[in-house]
Amino acid sequence: MNEVILKEAADIIMNSEYFIALTGAGVSKESNIPTFRGEDGLWRNYDAMELATPSAFARNPSLVWEWYAWRQGLIGNCEPNPAHKTLSSWENRGILKTLITQNVDGLHIRAGSVNVLEVHGDLWALKCTSCDYRERLSSPVSGIPTCPKCNSHLRPDVVWFGESLNPQIMRKVYSELELADVCIVIGTSALVQPAASFPLIVRQHGGRIIEINIEKTIISSVVDVHISGKAGEILPALNELLQ
Ligand code: NAD
Ligand code: ZN
Repeated sequence: MNEVILKEAADIIMNSEYFIALTGAGVSKESNIPTFRGEDGLWRNYDAMELATPSAFARNPSLVWEWYAWRQGLIGNCEPNPAHKTLSSWENRGILKTLITQNVDGLHIRAGSVNVLEVHGDLWALKCTSCDYRERLSSPVSGIPTCPKCNSHLRPDVVWFGESLNPQIMRKVYSELELADVCIVIGTSALVQPAASFPLIVRQHGGRIIEINIEKTIISSVVDVHISGKAGEILPALNELLQ
């Protein structure tokens, strides 16, 4: 771990006025939740990009539900890791104002974070494909769940590739991005829009960006500090410098 780079990041955070975080699948990797693009990102030879789409659900709802039930089972057995816990402790201490996540695993909330904006939804939430019925589960689904109001198929209440994001959540996200003077970006490949552009919005009005990732991403060349390493190791080390 490069101490000089860590110290530089810690100084930026200590001097911030409105510090926010953006997380992606990499923050949950050490909780054993596979990322979409990593080498363990395949399920029965399916690429997630083929399954997390409205057309995949229209074509084969039982296959898509089987995949979601598998993911629910996986996540139900996983625990928040030191990265989730550090972020929640920063919110508790008043250092971190808001956490924007692309993850649907709910681990930030389970780690105790409260001010969380889940831009891609929540894996335990369901909505009807025909009416306004919604519900939230606590155990994995079996088969294709149906709506108690109109008998249509229920679908996961998550944002699929090609769908638009919830406008109410997005309004809050953009107002946080405008307020932020420092944003830490953790474990995202910065390939999925519009989340990929969030750090650039902070940068456009003079804010600073810290990136934590095990590899370089397309935003690495424009961030102020890139820290190379695992989120579950880097965040606690950074925390040591924030005392
Ligand atoms: P991604 O899979 O595209 O990228 C993951 C990134 O994390 C990569 O850049 C990788 O280098 C990095 N990474 C892997 N392990 C890491 C670690 N231990 N520490 C730090 N970085 C690490 O993920 P994305 O950018 O979030 O985009 C994928 C989309 O898929 C998102 O919309 C997300 O909602 C969804 N997704 C969510 C989950 C989840 O909820 N846990 C899991 C998979 C995918
Ligand atoms: Zn219905």
